[in-house]
Amino acid sequence: MPGSVKTEAIVLRSIRYGEADRVLHLYTPDRGRLGAIAKGVRRARSRFGGRLEPFFRLRLVLYEGRGDLLTVTSAETVAAHPRLREDGPSLDAAARACDAVGRLFADGEPHPGVYHLLANELALLDGDAAQATRANALAFRLKLLLAAGFAPQLAGCAACGESEHLVGFSGAAGGVVCAACEAGSFPLGEPAHAFMVAALGSALADAPAADPRALAQAERAILATLEHHAGVRLRAVR
Ligand SMILES: [Zn+2]
Repeated sequence: MPGSVKTEAIVLRSIRYGEADRVLHLYTPDRGRLGAIAKGVRRARSRFGGRLEPFFRLRLVLYEGRGDLLTVTSAETVAAHPRLREDGPSLDAAARACDAVGRLFADGEPHPGVYHLLANELALLDGDAAQATRANALAFRLKLLLAAGFAPQLAGCAACGESEHLVGFSGAAGGVVCAACEAGSFPLGEPAHAFMVAALGSALADAPAADPRALAQAERAILATLEHHAGVRLRAVR
């Protein structure tokens, strides 16, 4: 049914379209990912100014007609995140966070927790360039898996339940595995396991530190989980 939709949204991607328009990939709290078109936005006197760009958090009014894309009728800035654009690692981390959200969730699949997680990540990266660490990027992805319902099993062997001698990780089994069930897994040491548990259990701003080897193992575990359960292959965090 055609009509107006008011929503907050984060711009994941903004693609030039035709002479002066842009097609936006948005993430919203109540409708998940959705596509919209902003007409005339690339003209110098556009009423939208420069705010329909990636990483903007906006308050939007959209017109929903019969087509696949909604039409942006008004846009107010909630947060522009100007500082993250001036720092290479922050910008890169923001781009990867938006890319992960855009690829992990289909249109019209709402996860309010994902919206708040992404808003939180962009605010953190904007507030402090020192947050753009590999540990932060991995903690973000782990929390994304949790919000999507794909959190890996970390409390005991995903195959047999054993809680000791956890030596590997298996995307197919869905989590850590013990020495007896390690066939088909890859090594995941205690520091990587501890990092994943701590990252899931703490606020994004307090992502735990870990050595590079542990982070590399944690990253492999996250990528394996995404690939196995969501069929999504993400770029390495950096
Ligand atoms: Zn086992």
